[in-house]
Amino acid sequence: MANRTLALNEQLYSYLLSHSVHEPEILSALRQETAQHPMGEMQIAPEQGQFMALLVQLIGAKKALEVGVFTGYSALRVALALPPEGQLVACDISPEYTAIARRYWEKAGVANKIDLRLGPAMDTLNQLLQEGQANSFDFAFIDADKSNYPTYYEQALQLVRPGGLIAIDNVLWSGQVADPAIQDNRTKAIRAFNQALYGDERIVLSLVPIADGLTLAMKKSSP
Ligand code: SAM
Ligand code: CA
Repeated sequence: MANRTLALNEQLYSYLLSHSVHEPEILSALRQETAQHPMGEMQIAPEQGQFMALLVQLIGAKKALEVGVFTGYSALRVALALPPEGQLVACDISPEYTAIARRYWEKAGVANKIDLRLGPAMDTLNQLLQEGQANSFDFAFIDADKSNYPTYYEQALQLVRPGGLIAIDNVLWSGQVADPAIQDNRTKAIRAFNQALYGDERIVLSLVPIADGLTLAMKKSSP
């Protein structure tokens, strides 16, 4: 028994996958296609996708936001977990990556639930705020350019309702956040971001060591 989080070796990781992950065929197909893509490693892990889908269902989310779509795997997982009237606003800057995403969303029959907005996510999130959509999202997933995480987080915090959940990806950054010898800009940015959230009293926080590290931040009700 261990009263701390286990490190997963290959054997244990494969046990976890084979005793937990139920991946719909359409998601497996997308994962296989993305694995052939030169940037394929950007995709979230299947166990993480399943975990996020569970969270979406647990909180009864109807309206979700994603920052960083790539080939659409996480968006597809979330969209499949939303009820039929659910909506996902998905932000990315790349027409090429998201063309793959759109193809799979169509095939999966969830394209009508996903509002893909191409352009810098910061602008899209500002636009949503200007449209009066503050406090209206149940769930947000942040997984785009790491240097803009603080801004996306502040915007998402305005867009989600009290009790809504923000999930932020790659917060353990392959373990590099904990290695003082690593001092590149992106690692430093994620470290500073993690430190800021640790002291942020507007949220209830948990850093979950799944995949590359997923921070969960539930927005508290205003005092
Ligand atoms: N969540 C995706 C998945 O599960 O496959 C992976 C997202 S990938 C790590 C990051 C994405 O952020 C890329 O598709 C990239 O085009 C997008 N991106 C980078 N900078 C951006 C920006 N300023 N605004 C919007 N999207 C951006
Ligand atoms: Ca990621």
